[in-house]
Amino acid sequence: MDISQTIFEECTDDLGPEKIIHIYEPVSKLRAIVVIDNIAAGPAIGGVRMAPDLTTTEVRRLARAMTLKNAAAGLPHGGAKAGILSDPKTGEKEQIIRIFARAIECLHDYIPAPDMYTDESCIAYIFDEIQRSVGLPRELGGIPFDEIGATGFGVAECAGIAKEYIDLDLNGARLVVEGFGNVGKNAARFLGEKGVRLVAASDTSGTVYNRDGIDVPALVRVKEEKGSVIYYEDAERLKTGDLLKISSDIFVPAARPDVVDERNVGTLDTKLILQGANIPITIGAEKVLHDRGVLSVPDFIANAGGVITAAVEYRHGSEKEAFFEVKSKIRENTKKVLDKTYSEGLYPRVAADAIARERVLSAMRYRRCM
Ligand code: NAD
Repeated sequence: MDISQTIFEECTDDLGPEKIIHIYEPVSKLRAIVVIDNIAAGPAIGGVRMAPDLTTTEVRRLARAMTLKNAAAGLPHGGAKAGILSDPKTGEKEQIIRIFARAIECLHDYIPAPDMYTDESCIAYIFDEIQRSVGLPRELGGIPFDEIGATGFGVAECAGIAKEYIDLDLNGARLVVEGFGNVGKNAARFLGEKGVRLVAASDTSGTVYNRDGIDVPALVRVKEEKGSVIYYEDAERLKTGDLLKISSDIFVPAARPDVVDERNVGTLDTKLILQGANIPITIGAEKVLHDRGVLSVPDFIANAGGVITAAVEYRHGSEKEAFFEVKSKIRENTKKVLDKTYSEGLYPRVAADAIARERVLSAMRYRRCM
């Protein structure tokens, strides 16, 4: 079977995708992928990420995660995702983003948002080009969800509910964060306010570990000023991949997809996983974890804080409203999913998927079908 057939089959079911668009701009040589998965509930919100090794399948899976996330959160938006195949550390980021924006101008059903390696400035460049994006800087009327830490805030709220199902005391609980970026550092900050103690954090340059605890504001400063967590002094330095061997009570994967898979899941020693990143754990590994008694709250339930805030921004709501909605929607959804999980003997992802799919399918009933 040829590769395009394989991708097509992996990407197609009753929910979507609506469109898969491959972009090539010959002068700049820009290459990008946009997947608009489903727009039944409204125009699709989804992040734009930058990485040289993105694949159609990865963008496709991320777009589906957005459909389910937006539906689970009850937002009037469908799901999409975009990937720019480029090194995010390039000095020409603004130019690349602007070229990308002009290339997607005609995709009126897609509202671009920040994602890995794209921030509020990138989203402002897109807005400047096509007047369509969310996650704008404050000066442009946005609610900068990375700056306020909306997703990390939601992750911490999710913990506040999930702990009840596994009898976990957050006060003093040991936290390990994979990927100390916008989501990871804010999850550590807001979980810290609930008494959770960060013991290890990683980024692409390495891992820092201190069993007695890491000072979160100090680590944030080090990361901002020196570019990596590894320059934090009061901790042992390890390789990036060593993070998964560190024992914890709460593990927050907040970087790339499929970080935990069937091969390395055996090394993970934790009680509660709050999926800060999108699809950070393979379905097979999630099953192994659940069967072992580890509660893993699916990505589109735990990390919906950013998109809930984006939807509030899109309808011109306030930052205060955004925090209120993130808190109430994430707490309510976590409870709904975990009640269904334990009462019906399901895997958490199966329960979450069923709730979100039902909402998308209900919205699809109102669409023209020919
Ligand atoms: P970010 O760019 O701010 O941070 C990512 C961090 O991960 C960086 O510090 C980077 O060095 C690190 N990293 C990358 N690869 C790594 C690896 N293999 N091992 C360890 N660390 C690694 O990105 P972000 O906004 O925090 O997003 C992180 C993840 O969360 C992405 O999957 C994104 O799609 C998802 N997400 C983000 C938001 C949001 O509001 N920003 C919302 C929902 C989901």
